[in-house]
Amino acid sequence: MSNSLVINFSYIIAAGLFIFGLKLLGSPETARRGNFLSALGMFIAVVFTLASQEIIAYHWIIIGILIGASVGAYAARTVQMTGMPEMVALFNGFGGIASLFVGWAALFNADLNTFVVFTVFLSILIGGVTFSGSLVAWGKLSEKIDGKPIVFDGQRLANSLLLGAIILSGLIFIANPGGTSFWLFLIIALALTLGVMAVIPIGGADMPVVISLLNSYSGIAAAAAGFAVNNNLLIVAGSLVGASGIILTQIMCKAMNRSLTNVLFSGFGAVKKQEAIEGEVKPITAEDAFYILEAASSVVFVPGYGMAVAQAQHVVKELCELLEENGAEVNFAIHPVAGRMPGHMNVLLAEADVPYDQLVEMDDINPRMDTVDVAIVIGANDVVNPSARENENSPIYGMPVINVDKAQTVFVLKRSMASGFSGVDNPLFFGENTRMLFGDAKESIGKLIREFSN
Ligand code: NDP
Repeated sequence: MSNSLVINFSYIIAAGLFIFGLKLLGSPETARRGNFLSALGMFIAVVFTLASQEIIAYHWIIIGILIGASVGAYAARTVQMTGMPEMVALFNGFGGIASLFVGWAALFNADLNTFVVFTVFLSILIGGVTFSGSLVAWGKLSEKIDGKPIVFDGQRLANSLLLGAIILSGLIFIANPGGTSFWLFLIIALALTLGVMAVIPIGGADMPVVISLLNSYSGIAAAAAGFAVNNNLLIVAGSLVGASGIILTQIMCKAMNRSLTNVLFSGFGAVKKQEAIEGEVKPITAEDAFYILEAASSVVFVPGYGMAVAQAQHVVKELCELLEENGAEVNFAIHPVAGRMPGHMNVLLAEADVPYDQLVEMDDINPRMDTVDVAIVIGANDVVNPSARENENSPIYGMPVINVDKAQTVFVLKRSMASGFSGVDNPLFFGENTRMLFGDAKESIGKLIREFSN
């Protein structure tokens, strides 16, 4: 069997593992296995690619693997769960720049034809946009730069000119390709500028959508680079990332009830002014909250970003067991954008061994929320904000939320009256049936547990 036949056969196995792995990632129960199978696929692909006769210098590859693997392993081990979206943003960016370099390197191949040069152009353009756009998204999420949308007069004109310049330089470059051509450097500079220009007008609260879109771009850039270097697996893997990224983007837009165009082209919260909320805030002590919980026969926990900050998932599970022993039916209502990354709450609750069948999706819990005795909101804010349903002037109007205000009693566990990620005030805290249990979520739940044990 020829060398290239063996390599392509290994690529088919790797691609199969990627697809099967992706399928398994669809459910929390099988996600770990899915991750492992996809990683195994990548391992097989890397090993067989390294066996290719076209490789001329192993030592550079080994140095690259050592540096990359050490940085990656260190980052993955030390990152806080709450810092995960920032890390994903950086990884997307590095994926983009890698495709840019692969495309660039392809220009030094002997047999360049117009199609190959066109795919090189695409990998450099999309890779560059992904890289600089992801760096801005990382800066906004980690609050290294202001999260507010940056808009200025003539922005649309500037963007149109930028696009025009890219198309023009692209045409000239495709007609006269070269690895050190002036037009190539111009395209790289313009692509990097476009990435910055595309992300600065988008507000911090919309960054999750932007990150999943950039993830999709990094896949498309990789697929283009795959065409440029004629590597089938890169084309398949890039397409899978491109397609899954765009599906996730769609799901997140739907969860926020926004169109992608609206996310990309309107400064979030930049135009609407907020009205002050009138009403009385009613704090409650853990002792009084315990008496209400003791009498409850159905309880729903609604976790949010604050549960991640407080690392309260284990004590929440403990309280859940005590409530069940006391005869209550307990469920966890999960909002698709609760926390700071898709599936954030599922990951935390899985870590605390909360059974999957106790997790209920927003659409399933909302119709029966009025039959719930107590809804316990743990560090969630935006995802339970009734103004998204009722107040047309609210910047988050139209975003589907978990209707905890419809439960008989609502306990909100947070440290202060501060707003959540979107910066929007929450009338839930002033509701007739709402009681605020102020303090760190882990400590407050610890107090409730102690009340049960007394
Ligand atoms: P929010 O950001 O709306 O609210 C979190 C709340 O947690 C804050 O109001 C804060 O109040 C409270 N909190 C923080 N620390 C603690 C603590 N130690 N103990 C108790 N409470 C604490 O979170 P949600 O989960 O409700 O909503 C997610 C938001 O993040 C949405 O706007 C979503 O669009 C956005 N987003 C989502 C991503 C995703 O993919 N899931 C990614 C990025 C953003 P206080 O300071 O008073 O304690």
